[in-house]
Amino acid sequence: MYQHKWISEATMNLPVGKAVCVGRNYVAHAKELNNPVPSRPLLFMKPASALCEFGPDIFIHSKRGAHHYEAELVLLVGSTIHCDSTEPLRHIAGVGLGLDLTLRELQAQLKQKGHPWEVAKAFDGSGCITPFIPVTQEQLHAGLTYRFWQNGTLRQQGNSEHMIFNLEMLLKAITQFFTLHPGDIVMTGTPEGVGPLNVGDQLKLQLGESATVFHSKVVKQV
Ligand code: ZN
Repeated sequence: MYQHKWISEATMNLPVGKAVCVGRNYVAHAKELNNPVPSRPLLFMKPASALCEFGPDIFIHSKRGAHHYEAELVLLVGSTIHCDSTEPLRHIAGVGLGLDLTLRELQAQLKQKGHPWEVAKAFDGSGCITPFIPVTQEQLHAGLTYRFWQNGTLRQQGNSEHMIFNLEMLLKAITQFFTLHPGDIVMTGTPEGVGPLNVGDQLKLQLGESATVFHSKVVKQV
């Protein structure tokens, strides 16, 4: 079963909770999928059962159509954030990266019919999460960059300063509807460059300009 981890391999005493996810938080990504730019954060959730480790393997299902990667900055909640919490970023204990796996064809069919898209976004193994790095409020305010490679090709690069709704705005918007508890995570949206995964792909995520690099490989699941 998935457990949150610190990159230091120190044990973490936070449980695994829900993942609140943000759609269309970068202008260029909204445009690449021909979606309008939202006027307030577009939120959806993955249950704890959807989360898995990014690496050594991640799984795609042969009969479910295209699994798109969406590389995202992930916040780990360290203490409860309510709708009236001031400075919500001080409750963030760590930052990591993740892939928000999306069954894009199924999602398109469901969207067209106006149906909920949970099965395309919240299935088991759809949230692939790296270990977390402890983070300060100042670092979160200063902006964080990340990159994603597929078989050595740079596919996505993100910078939290380019988000439509910044990290603080996201936490304020989320907690209007969903109280965030210790061990919950926030997947903050993907920049442009999403695309399908293929069996055998070698994947790499990098946080910041540092040597903080995470590796995984795509494996088929029947
Ligand atoms: Zn996403």
